[in-house]
Amino acid sequence: MLPGFVAYPEDVADRYRREGYWTGAPLGEIARAEARRDGSRAAIVSTRESVSYAELDNWADAIGTGFRERGIGPGDRVIVQLPNIPEFLAVALALFRIGAIPVFALPAHRSAEISYLSEHADAAAYVIPDVHQRFDYRDLAREVRRARPALREVVVAGEPAEFTALAAFGRGGRPLAPAAVDPEGPALLLLSGGTTGLPKLIPRTHDDYAYQLRATAEAMRFGRDGVYLAALPMAHNAALGCPGVLGALAAGGVVALAGNPSPDQIFPLAERTGATLTTLMPSLLRLWADTAGLFGADLSGLVVEVGGAPLSAETADRVAGALGCTLTRWFGMAEGPLIFTRLDDEPAVRLGTEGRPLSAADELRVVDDQGQDVAPGEPGELLVRGPTTLRGYYDNAEYNARTFTRDGFLRTGDLVCRTAEGNLVVRGRARDVINRGGEKIPAEEVETHLQAHPEIDEAAVVGVPDLALGEKTCAFVVPAGGPPTLAGIKNFLTGAGLAEFKFPDRLRVVETLPRTGAGKIDKNALKAAAGRRADQNPPAPGSAPASSPPSEA
Ligand code: AMP
Repeated sequence: MLPGFVAYPEDVADRYRREGYWTGAPLGEIARAEARRDGSRAAIVSTRESVSYAELDNWADAIGTGFRERGIGPGDRVIVQLPNIPEFLAVALALFRIGAIPVFALPAHRSAEISYLSEHADAAAYVIPDVHQRFDYRDLAREVRRARPALREVVVAGEPAEFTALAAFGRGGRPLAPAAVDPEGPALLLLSGGTTGLPKLIPRTHDDYAYQLRATAEAMRFGRDGVYLAALPMAHNAALGCPGVLGALAAGGVVALAGNPSPDQIFPLAERTGATLTTLMPSLLRLWADTAGLFGADLSGLVVEVGGAPLSAETADRVAGALGCTLTRWFGMAEGPLIFTRLDDEPAVRLGTEGRPLSAADELRVVDDQGQDVAPGEPGELLVRGPTTLRGYYDNAEYNARTFTRDGFLRTGDLVCRTAEGNLVVRGRARDVINRGGEKIPAEEVETHLQAHPEIDEAAVVGVPDLALGEKTCAFVVPAGGPPTLAGIKNFLTGAGLAEFKFPDRLRVVETLPRTGAGKIDKNALKAAAGRRADQNPPAPGSAPASSPPSEA
């Protein structure tokens, strides 16, 4: 058992098993049944190649054997940072089969995030591409390994340089006896979208994730004839397992992989493969709606699950019309809670709410500041407990004590309303997180980096509305001498190894930061100030003034 893993209480686990949610099937079995039944059918179609079920099954075995020979085994953590290429799926299945635990990192992550993950997860191996979107991941691996030699194995999909080539494990002919895994134990670690500080690690078990794959596929009517188009990075829970790529394979369907989600790749691929289901975030959805006409793409057979960030009912309606597809909505977290509209919901529900929970066994509460349940229609924080929702972040007892109620509900930090019919409408966040096009940016993480800048005395970041991305990041900084520039700050953050999507988009240099009565930085005042032009910046009522007008870079 993984130290730092918080298991479900035994009586709860018994109930989930008894009621048929958890079935004891390890995730490593994905693709096996279909490989035996009709192995010549396509499992993966990418812009580069097509992989049948039999080939994928053999490939996963060969990679699993390769890892085993290099001493990676049950319980070992392996950081997987791959783009949407077939290798991602072969490696994931291989690791499940040998009982190792993949930690899925985004391709956009850089040394700050990967070093932290490597340390926190105590990772033994790291899987990367050679070069992707002009970034050389082998340089990143060198940097991470210099700081932490315990990361003993680096495996490269592509040219390996001094590391191990994934291709050296072969693609077949090395059958693997799968490790005996505890289905209630951790199968994978996902990254939290963040609440405070650095990302937390979310353990998902074989049982809970397999149930999520099955139930979401059923709800989206995805079966063997389905084609799932992976447009978002597969490391996101939304594209990995709702039902996503793993759910598609578990159902015996096809996974269509676009190297990147730009319209010129995605629309031809969608047409060529006859895609039936995909997952998008609102920023990408708007881009699709604006460009689908240019490609003359016929998306009438496509169901688009959209979520991850706020979307108005009007935009949802307009976009569904422009794309000619069926739109359903979801609200979810890698932590497990998943709320979504069903395909036979009326349009008002399907486009105007986030729908209902995945599981009949999900328990939802909407509570006020005192933890008391609010009446239907009233806003409050969403609390969730259920067969896919974690009971504790990995190795983080102090944070878990604050984030879970005594009886095991996860405090999501999201503000929602529940309609009388039981559908959820998201109202905002109680947490200090910026949602930039669906990527979550914990304000505190960026602020900590900014404060390390030699020209910055104090810093605070807030989200500001943005038409394309939903929100962008604005940094307010108090200089410690000559005022820093946005370009200088971006250089500094590149040097610190922070992922680029977390960089501030805008900069305001101020003499002081406004404070609340309790002495905390007044983020509401900063948000209001960020919405005004730099030369008309009166302080918000009740906040300490910036003693001179801020300048904007
Ligand atoms: P992640 O951990 O990246 O899966 O992000 C989860 C967070 O994304 C949630 O806690 C919400 O703050 C946000 N989110 C997810 N779905 C929606 C949605 N439909 N509307 C608004 N925010 C959402």
